[in-house]
Amino acid sequence: MTALEKIIIEMIEAEGPIGIDRYMALCLGHPVHGYYMSRDPFGPAGDFTTAPEISQIFGELIGVWCVNAWVSMGSPLKFALVELGPGRGTLMADLLRAAKAAPEFLAAAQVHLVEMSPVLRAAQKAKLGDGVIWYDTVATLPALPCLIIANEFFDALPIKQFEMRDGKTYERAVGLQNGKLKLGLAPSDTTFETEGVFEVSSVSVAIGEDLGRHINTHGGAVLVIDYGHFYSAAGDTLQAVKGHSFCDVLDSPGEADVTAHVDFEALGNSFDAKVLPMLTQGQFLKAMGLEMRSVKLSTKLEGPARDEFLAASARLIDADQMGDLFKVLCLVQKNGNATYPFGAP
Ligand code: SAH
Repeated sequence: MTALEKIIIEMIEAEGPIGIDRYMALCLGHPVHGYYMSRDPFGPAGDFTTAPEISQIFGELIGVWCVNAWVSMGSPLKFALVELGPGRGTLMADLLRAAKAAPEFLAAAQVHLVEMSPVLRAAQKAKLGDGVIWYDTVATLPALPCLIIANEFFDALPIKQFEMRDGKTYERAVGLQNGKLKLGLAPSDTTFETEGVFEVSSVSVAIGEDLGRHINTHGGAVLVIDYGHFYSAAGDTLQAVKGHSFCDVLDSPGEADVTAHVDFEALGNSFDAKVLPMLTQGQFLKAMGLEMRSVKLSTKLEGPARDEFLAASARLIDADQMGDLFKVLCLVQKNGNATYPFGAP
């Protein structure tokens, strides 16, 4: 039994079953035993690998996107370059390196990172140096035009799960059976129109509202990349991953990454800003020139290193790997210009 499991069991014994949102928040963010609070989970030796850790080209192309979006915003002389949940800081490091081609952009950018994990903050500091500012939440971002990037951030935010059965809606909750964690159903006042499991992330919606207000007031654009679905639909997407394999969400609280697919329709609407037509990650990266850049950089390599480099690029865009499952949502302020490669709405 993990240390966090013991704490959760005692909590349920004292207070009764807890919602999936509270369970997720504890699994990931418990101050001592939360998954992200106590470890660096990325890479082959960890539990999962994200796009910036797969290929440097990912962050570089987001850098190109940022320079372009900054020009669409009228090239403000001072702006906040914000990343939500920056992990090891790899995306930001690759982005800033690619942006060296645009010195005016770099001179105008102040880097702001929103990160809850002390372990990952230390990794970000080691990679990016002292010239960046950290925040616990998005509520305190500076009053500046903003470019906001979030890769695999929203999937880690808590969801509630509701289940409609025989015309009645219940909330899924974590309770106990024979002293062990067990998923069950609790009565709920919420109603849905069709049978099935429905997921709602009020934490994501609140962050969307905050960021939307921010860019509508100060100007800016937001780029969200994550696994999920374009349109809201019924379905149970709660998942846990440990050592690069799926495991039961109740299996090892605090030692597995517990996440849910992002409902991009609900998230996009929460901003109350201009939602540009969404793209898959494959469409986005191809439009940004991934294939050309990949071939160009690979000519510096030989043999297996070259094959590995090209395979990493393919993993980001191939439909049966990350290309289709991952989606890209871009929002700009209400009266803002569309930014390449997202067409006008
Ligand atoms: N963007 C990185 C890391 C993704 S993992 C990459 O692509 O590699 C999720 C990141 O979000 C981690 O850095 C985690 O610590 C952070 N995170 C998760 N929930 C958070 C929250 N509620 N507030 C701030 N940071 C959070």
